Amino acid sequence: MAKLEANSTTGPANPSLRAAILDPAAIERKLALNTYNVDMTRAHIRIIDNNVCLRCERQQCINCCPANCYVPQDDGRVVFSYEGCVECGTCRIVCNIYRNVEWTYPRGGFGIQYQFG
Ligand code: SF4
Repeated sequence: MAKLEANSTTGPANPSLRAAILDPAAIERKLALNTYNVDMTRAHIRIIDNNVCLRCERQQCINCCPANCYVPQDDGRVVFSYEGCVECGTCRIVCNIYRNVEWTYPRGGFGIQYQFG
């Protein structure tokens, strides 16, 4: 394992560790290790009213969801897909102005199954 050497101005001094941190594909590789048992009969998260998204200037769900479950549309609305959700709860918190996300965990036996627990 690479030793983390903190540098207050440039981050880790180890070039390979720095490259790994800055690699934009790293999160996709990590997410690919997980498996999902998708509940096709019940979405555990949903956008309550897509028209409300038109009034939301920041639409932080799009940038904050690590699994890219929120996708901006050309008309200003946001489309949500729950199948790849990692159940982190971020969208529940960042939609704090309009509270337009209805959030629950999947039913027992469904949802993400983490590779490393
Ligand atoms: Fe994305 Fe996390 Fe919300 Fe799931 S709980 S949709 S992974 S932000």
